[in-house]
Amino acid sequence: MSTVLEALELFPIRIPMRHRFRRVDHREAVVIRGPAGWGEFSPFPDYPPHVTTRWLAAALEAACSSLPEPGRAFIPINVTVPAVAPDVAARLVLESGAGTAKVKVGEPGQTMEEDEARLAAVRAAIGPEGKIRIDVNAGWDLETATLRLASYARFDLEYVEQPVKTLEEMVELKQRVSVPLAADELVRLRPDPLEVAAMGAADILVVKVQPLGGVARTLDIAARARIPVVVSSALETSVGIYSGLLVASLLPELRYACGLGTVSLIEGDPTRSPLVSMNGMLEVRRPEPDPDLLRRWRPDRDRAAEMLRKVRNAAEVLT
Ligand SMILES: [Mg+2]
Repeated sequence: MSTVLEALELFPIRIPMRHRFRRVDHREAVVIRGPAGWGEFSPFPDYPPHVTTRWLAAALEAACSSLPEPGRAFIPINVTVPAVAPDVAARLVLESGAGTAKVKVGEPGQTMEEDEARLAAVRAAIGPEGKIRIDVNAGWDLETATLRLASYARFDLEYVEQPVKTLEEMVELKQRVSVPLAADELVRLRPDPLEVAAMGAADILVVKVQPLGGVARTLDIAARARIPVVVSSALETSVGIYSGLLVASLLPELRYACGLGTVSLIEGDPTRSPLVSMNGMLEVRRPEPDPDLLRRWRPDRDRAAEMLRKVRNAAEVLT
């Protein structure tokens, strides 16, 4: 595997986030140039090599193998609303022009009142026809989830993403509430991503290309899931977002807006024409990194060395 890496060009980048998200305030990625194009390796800093190896497989697929041609030309996407104040949440929704909003709730350190104020602001901004989904990132226990989802019914939620942590809790919660449940963390953290669907623990699967190990594998999982999927990002730059767009463009049915409009949460991008949505739509195109921007976002030496070390560690597991 090290010989495979030697044949590639690796560019570490580190870009500030506009809003703190998933408890990170900078997004770090190694963009990789190979014979077939550019790939992105951007696991979150705390992930161990046996996890990041799938992220690397996705990056190498994009850099070294020929990806399929896109299907659809445009993909509907949701605006992502981090755990921000109500006025900021409303502004994000209005500026996006999107008809679907995904709102973070249940963030550690935030109260139920803060979540409700954010949801009320988003509902007012998006209007009665707009769709609102929430993402809890497994932040609730079963009792909290039951109570809050009963209370949040007034916001007319499209679905709730990963309200509780375990498969068993998801199965139990599904009996208790009527809002559809989507599995996210459970899909990518279990050895078999389809177990969640097979166990009846979710109505919807959130699929992400890097955590699942590439475009081909994600399309395969979507085809075998037997429940609808929502293609989402892992907060990639435009290089990685393209792979998600490609998957969404090739799904036989696309029932839900995708969570791929996250480039706008990052202060910058390695490409000159980032994949930023217009009125809730993203064009399926593959922008290339720009040498000046790769230099601009290059982290200091120690950080760059550490990021490259993570690529090598993941590559070792891959062999
Ligand atoms: Mg999620």
